[in-house]
Amino acid sequence: MYGAIIGDIIGSVFEFDAPGWTKNFPLFVDGFYTRGSHFTDDTVMTVAVMEALMKAGRDADAETIRKECIRSMQKWGQRYPDAGYGGRFIYWVHAKDPKPYGSYGNGSAMRVSAAGWLYDTIERTREVARATAEVSHNHPEGIKGAECTAAVMFLARTGASKEEIKDYVVKEFGYDVSRSVDELRPLHDHVESCQDSLPKALASFFEGTSYEDTVRNAVSLGGDTDTLAAIAGAMADAMYGIPDDILAEGRARLPEDLLKVVEKFATI
Ligand SMILES: [Mg+2]
Repeated sequence: MYGAIIGDIIGSVFEFDAPGWTKNFPLFVDGFYTRGSHFTDDTVMTVAVMEALMKAGRDADAETIRKECIRSMQKWGQRYPDAGYGGRFIYWVHAKDPKPYGSYGNGSAMRVSAAGWLYDTIERTREVARATAEVSHNHPEGIKGAECTAAVMFLARTGASKEEIKDYVVKEFGYDVSRSVDELRPLHDHVESCQDSLPKALASFFEGTSYEDTVRNAVSLGGDTDTLAAIAGAMADAMYGIPDDILAEGRARLPEDLLKVVEKFATI
């Protein structure tokens, strides 16, 4: 359940290419002159979607899911206003009547992981993922990024092989998954879109051999490292789970109110 959150925490200090594009970096950093490894907007919105899907109930229709998502994302976004949201999303968080704004930002994919855990079929998983995206990121690419992330998680946790998952991703979503992490790394770009982030997160996951290795792949790509590690981390958690020591380090960096929601989500 913590896959996206701990990926976000690990990636948080390496944004803007800080680790020098290597997989060899300390997983958790304690701040001295600068902030140590910390949760950001990716964690706050992941928790918000968890709470929204719990409130809506397993069989809720799309309209109810959208309503609960708006309520919960605004509540948590306002409670943690400085977590690092995108420029337009911060207006959305505070809007009286928030409307989708055609975003294809990677925010729809980094917050969706609750949908990847909760449902019995891939169709239902994708329907819910779509609803969580539509409230703000209703551009087709924004929706696709959320659906793909949740679908990969569903397949991973129900026993599909990496090859089967890859085939599904290409057939259903059309992402280019031909490039390896080594081939993607020299791009050195920082683009916070689903079109840019999904192929990178997918490559990190397909090549990764464990939760830790997947997150190291994602961070080594540089750029938007917290979000890349959140998306890839969610996929890897669904396939491998997270080792206890990494889980404990990550949980220790979360405040009580966010922890409480994830702990409750883990019991349903
Ligand atoms: Mg972030």
